[in-house]
Amino acid sequence: MSVSKDASGDAVAPATGHDLIVRTADVPVYSDYSKYRRYLRHDFYYSCAYCTITEAEAEALRFTIDHYEPVSAMPELRAVYTNLMYACDECNARKGDLFPPPGARQDGYRFFRPDMDRTSEHFSAQGSAVSHKSKTGFYTITALSLNRRALRRIRELRLRLKLCDEYVSEGIRALRDIKIDQLHPELRAKASRWIKEASDLNERLIDEINEVLRAAARSSLIVDEEPADTDDDTLRRDDLKRVEGLYPGQWRGRGHRKKKKRN
Ligand SMILES: [Zn+2]
Repeated sequence: MSVSKDASGDAVAPATGHDLIVRTADVPVYSDYSKYRRYLRHDFYYSCAYCTITEAEAEALRFTIDHYEPVSAMPELRAVYTNLMYACDECNARKGDLFPPPGARQDGYRFFRPDMDRTSEHFSAQGSAVSHKSKTGFYTITALSLNRRALRRIRELRLRLKLCDEYVSEGIRALRDIKIDQLHPELRAKASRWIKEASDLNERLIDEINEVLRAAARSSLIVDEEPADTDDDTLRRDDLKRVEGLYPGQWRGRGHRKKKKRN
């Protein structure tokens, strides 16, 4: 994995905030990228890399494994852990095969990636909307429609919890760095207890806060293993292929991507 550096050139300390996703260092090497799902869920705080929605907030929404550099453009990164992002279905579908050309990337027009980019340098919260602070933020908000209605509703709920401004735009990960006096009174009492109970304030408290945040974000309805295709699904695909075989010709739209109506 590449180590991010801050302005002073020092390596960024892992898991102590700094609003970066820190990837598990010792992931096994798999040729089937779906096997990385359990690591992605954990490392991404059970939250979408792009819109920050948590599994718990997303309810029925599916979570997927996104290839930061799409497989269609860079097939060699198909099963490389650092190219994989945990993403909600909505963001993944919008991202699709988008692959900004080098010139655009040099100018900052590329997708935000939470394992290398600090959220607070690219996005800020404006009420329930998120606005950009950089070209990367602009491109990501625009391409992924990060102010879509469902996300604004989630952010309104977050605002009502009045945890902190960062939580609205950065999601549950922002709470790693939260000051206790910014917390909702109910949580403040809990946090104070954690501090009292933590004998090693720096290490143990951070671990415990990370655990609590992950527990809050995780959905018990989502499992680490991507369910294998059921027989039904395989049959369905076979049926589809058979029918398609009966009528040779164009069975897919241009680019193989079905346009969905977006709000
Ligand atoms: Zn998303």
